[in-house]
Amino acid sequence: MNTHLSTRLSLVLFALLFLMSISFALFAINSAPLFLQELNQQVNRELANNIVKEKKLINNREVNQEALSSIFMGLMLVNPLIEVYLTDMDGKLLAYSAPEGVVKLDRIQLNPIRQYLDGKAFPIRGSDPRNPGQQKVFSAAPIYHGQQQEGFLYIILGGQAYDSVMEMLQSSYVMRVWFAAIAASLLVTLITGVIIMRHVTRRLVILHGSMAQFKKSNFTKPVQLPKRFDGRPGDEIDQLGANFREMSERIDQQLKLLQHADASRRELIANVSHDLRTPLASMQGYLETLTLKTDSLSETEKQQYLNIAYQHSKQLGKLIAELFELATLENHDPQLHFEAFSMAELAQDVCQKFQLDARNKDLVLKNQIPPQAAFVSADISLIQRVLENLIENAIKYTQPGGEINLNLDVSDNVIRTSIEDSGSGIPSEELPHIFNRFYRVEKHRNTEGTGLGLAIAKRIIQLHQSAIQVQSQPGQGTRFSFDLPAFS
Ligand code: ADP
Repeated sequence: MNTHLSTRLSLVLFALLFLMSISFALFAINSAPLFLQELNQQVNRELANNIVKEKKLINNREVNQEALSSIFMGLMLVNPLIEVYLTDMDGKLLAYSAPEGVVKLDRIQLNPIRQYLDGKAFPIRGSDPRNPGQQKVFSAAPIYHGQQQEGFLYIILGGQAYDSVMEMLQSSYVMRVWFAAIAASLLVTLITGVIIMRHVTRRLVILHGSMAQFKKSNFTKPVQLPKRFDGRPGDEIDQLGANFREMSERIDQQLKLLQHADASRRELIANVSHDLRTPLASMQGYLETLTLKTDSLSETEKQQYLNIAYQHSKQLGKLIAELFELATLENHDPQLHFEAFSMAELAQDVCQKFQLDARNKDLVLKNQIPPQAAFVSADISLIQRVLENLIENAIKYTQPGGEINLNLDVSDNVIRTSIEDSGSGIPSEELPHIFNRFYRVEKHRNTEGTGLGLAIAKRIIQLHQSAIQVQSQPGQGTRFSFDLPAFS
């Protein structure tokens, strides 16, 4: 059975209140007679004593019948509930006020009388001579003749008549009113409790609804909750709501990221397989021709085919190496080896390395490096990789007769490295895409390349907490630059 939380809580509250009322009523019913008995005994504490002081009830071991009768009569008139007994020193009954035949005991216990006379806490109950085995509250006093004690006056305060009064009381109007009051307060408390429970659980109901909505939307629509849930510091339910909202937003973000990652993974696989397949198919074609037509091909043709196959295999190798490199750099936590080195020296070395390639293409490769020693703390092999990529590109995309400049600017503790060429440039609409994996500018797609070099350079600079910049004017040239913090 799917019972609402508030209903369950209300039922629990009802059960608790009901149990509490019942136990309270039982306790009250049981303790009321005790209380009455205590009250009765307290009020009549001096009754027996006063009578004994007033009248000589035993004289030389003889019961003074006359005095006794007057007391019996007097007491019966004033309070018919009490019964008077006269005992000797052993508790043996010598005389009593009850009619003949109703008194069943001829002796009473003296222990309760002694406790009474010693001033023990009330109520103290003693033998009821009319009902053997039953105990009643009493008032008692010793009877003396001179210095000699001769017996006890023993007055049962709630006699037979008292019992019937108690029974009457239990079915009385007061009792009925009392029970009605308990029932009414139970009802009022219950109704109030139900209202409070509903109020307390209202936000849980809203939260439950929002969670169900979120699940229904396949975890794509983050939870919207009323303002109270966001107000911190709130109570636990408010915080639960706020945490849940945050969690749903995070799940939504993660799902989007996963979808995006999945889409780019598919795109990457498509690109990779295309880029691998093209040189591979061409290489296979030339090698196949060489194998099949080896007799009919001239030595020059054979050499030419072999060269082409070799170029394609080199291209394939480069593509695979760069893919691997990029995958390593895009790892969550790639291992970088930071060290302090002179950026000027590194730039000189890389320039030197490409001088021959530049000259072969009739290009001038110059550098402008300030004399002061400018040190950076970076991964030297990765920064070298960036410089090489950028200079390689500059050589590749600049027409013969052009110029390439590698500049270092040191200012405000920053070394700005820039590689500028007077090449073909990049159209502005294509500029935002050139750092994407496999992106190649339209007009350069026939030039040899993988489309991975700039993606690798961008990632390396990013791993050094910086960003690579590009400015380009089609037909005039392109400038790539990046900053690294310098220290001397
Ligand atoms: P590729 O292997 O094609 O050079 P890159 O990632 O290094 O791959 O460069 C991406 C594209 O950016 C290149 O295909 C080219 O179109 C363009 N590009 C990069 N550097 C230059 C440059 N110096 N001048 C003009 N275009 C450039």
